[in-house]
Amino acid sequence: MTDNLVQAAYIIAAVLFVLSLAGLSKHESARQGNAFGIVGMVIALVATIWLAADRASNSGLTLFLILIAMAIGAGIGLWRARVVEMTGMPELVAMLHSFVGAAAVLVGYNSFNTADGLTGSEANIHLVEVYLGVFIGAVTFTGSVVAFLKLSARIPSKPLMLPHRHLLNLGALVVSALLLMWFMASESVFPLILMTLVALAFGYHLVASIGGGDMPVVVSMLNSYSGWAAAAAGFMLGNDLLIVTGALVGSSGAILSYIMCKAMNRSFFSVIAGGFGSDGSVSGEERDYGEHRETTAEDVADLLKQAKSVVITPGYGMAVAQAQYPVADLTSRLRKLGVDVRFGIHPVAGRLPGHMNVLLAEAKVPYDIVLEMDEVNDDFPDTDVVLVIGANDTVNPSATDEPGSPIAGMPVLKVWEARNVVVFKRSMATGYAGVQNPLFFKDNSQMLFGDAKERVEDMLKSL
Ligand code: NDP
Repeated sequence: MTDNLVQAAYIIAAVLFVLSLAGLSKHESARQGNAFGIVGMVIALVATIWLAADRASNSGLTLFLILIAMAIGAGIGLWRARVVEMTGMPELVAMLHSFVGAAAVLVGYNSFNTADGLTGSEANIHLVEVYLGVFIGAVTFTGSVVAFLKLSARIPSKPLMLPHRHLLNLGALVVSALLLMWFMASESVFPLILMTLVALAFGYHLVASIGGGDMPVVVSMLNSYSGWAAAAAGFMLGNDLLIVTGALVGSSGAILSYIMCKAMNRSFFSVIAGGFGSDGSVSGEERDYGEHRETTAEDVADLLKQAKSVVITPGYGMAVAQAQYPVADLTSRLRKLGVDVRFGIHPVAGRLPGHMNVLLAEAKVPYDIVLEMDEVNDDFPDTDVVLVIGANDTVNPSATDEPGSPIAGMPVLKVWEARNVVVFKRSMATGYAGVQNPLFFKDNSQMLFGDAKERVEDMLKSL
């Protein structure tokens, strides 16, 4: 009876998760998508806890222990969620992915230790499940820890270039395959432990060898891995909902990685194989691009008053400065003056897929003037003023003009084709990829130095 009810609850939760993903794919339905996800997760948790208590010899104690663990986890989770800055989200997400990986490893070892009584093909299937679960979990764990360290700037984001790095990766896979054979034949824990060490090193190396500019793909790729790790844990625990949920996360993460790769003109395989095809050079840094020009908030306000069309291209700096609110005010002010204002959003602007869209939605910028890169890129020659608010790599012409640049080939917003470009940033420092930006030195570009929020507020005053 309990089993049937739990299975029914799992089906309902799985449908809600699918609806949640469908909702999250559009601005307009994102809130509803989140609501579906929350309800699905509550149903899944209640059903799973009920099942665990029902199966345990001492239901009361089991329930008590689960609730204590959940209270501690929920307490830490709520605290982190409340204090995390929007700009700290990527590293938090990376850290959470590492937990999924670590959980899959622990579930794997536990499942290996407690699986007595299985024989024949059942036992073999179980061993393969354990092995794959631990492997994927360990790779996800160290890969996510490195991503966390890179995203939070605790270690440099430039790629680690070990000699023969592709051979090293291949070697790790071959050794893992050989250890699987030993594991199946011996059913001993030693090959499992050895493989775990190899997988931990493999995960570390895979992400460490990916360069700054390709990090967005790594984030979505680790999201995908964490999904597969959860699905593997689902197989080991015999939990259908965990398998479905893990597969949903795994496949949507893989689709997102593919989309990001296409957006950045990178080969999917190259990136997941650990920076394949990149030589890790950081050229362009030393070049002399000439002098830059500076401007003031008052002058930019005057420029805007005379403009007919304005495109705003936000980037990570807008998130750091939390400038989205004055930017939204500026937008509505200019629109009231009859200026055509639109936003051009690069797919990897900020530090998370959709980062800029979230910030602009938060500040209530109308969705219909928020355009994707491809929708706006041909319009720059007819644009009077482009305001580059805290963006750098995503508006860097060297991606198209300098074949040796680490970001070469990545499609960018061609803001320099507009009549006037104003760049809001605090200094001449490089962006995330560590590459100097020739845009800042172009004749039609002017730099407005300072915190983006303060400078936009100054402009609002002048307007
Ligand atoms: P960048 O990270 O290239 O540059 C941001 C700029 O903002 C910096 O040059 C900085 O200059 C400026 N800035 C920082 N703080 C402020 C502030 N308070 N006020 C004004 N300016 C500020 O940004 P982009 O969005 O253009 O590019 C994103 C980069 O991040 C890409 O390389 C992408 O590959 C990478 N990435 C993206 C992820 C994603 O999923 N979207 C994930 C991981 C990496 P200064 O210090 O001089 O102020």
